Amino acid sequence: MTQRVCLVTRHAKAPAVAPALAAAGYVLEVVDSFDTDSLGTFSGEVERRGDMRDAALAKARLACELGGSRYGLGSEGAFGGDPFLGVSGWGRELLVWWDAEVGYAVEGFVQGPETNWQTLEVTDLDAARRFLERAGFPGHGVIVGRPGEAWFDKACNDADAVMARVREGLAAVPVMLQTDMRAHRNPTRMAMIARAASALASRLSTPCPACAAPGFGPAESIPGAPCEGCGAPTRLPRAERWACPRCAHQQERPLALRASPERCDLCNP
Ligand SMILES: [Zn+2]
Ligand SMILES: [Zn+2]
Repeated sequence: MTQRVCLVTRHAKAPAVAPALAAAGYVLEVVDSFDTDSLGTFSGEVERRGDMRDAALAKARLACELGGSRYGLGSEGAFGGDPFLGVSGWGRELLVWWDAEVGYAVEGFVQGPETNWQTLEVTDLDAARRFLERAGFPGHGVIVGRPGEAWFDKACNDADAVMARVREGLAAVPVMLQTDMRAHRNPTRMAMIARAASALASRLSTPCPACAAPGFGPAESIPGAPCEGCGAPTRLPRAERWACPRCAHQQERPLALRASPERCDLCNP
């Protein structure tokens, strides 16, 4: 049986999300009557309230309300430095599904280095040109300036337009450049949203063994995989704890992983 699921977006996210959801039995409907930028923007005109999860859940609930459907989706991305050294970009994408009738959420989350995210303050046009190259412009959008500045522009479509804006700003101060992370201006981000949709769809296709609700899946990993050398437990996972987001039923699933002695605190202190 197929069910309607609504998504509030003006950033053309539907093609990235619809195929995976269709495979899980949901027909995607886009609601574009609401401007989600009023809930927060990446470029700082409107600050997002709460964390990523709160924001995505609020959008999913809103989608149910506006679309008049039992199921809603909320998408939220976050970008910054990588969690290891903080020197290269790192993307996080969360897609939350909300069941307004039962009142519970299922999440699809992915993260990784596949992002063009970066910001740079430039003091000359050459640096601006190099930034455009690294950002993948014009295939990917860029944003010139900060909100409130006369040269702030989120809609430049060619390098001449960007350079005109940068020149305008450089007459006064160094100019801020940033990659546009809105999905319709960022194909790399769109691909990560599609991966989040696949993660969500696979959870939605897994019913809880106790209550049969969709959404059973891994909640956390449990460390302790044995070392191949000495057999001692390591920090690598020995099992995953799966949980139901509706009834809180849990199950431990062994991973049958063995850790190489290099990852063992006893063999390689
Ligand atoms: Zn060992
Ligand atoms: Zn359950």
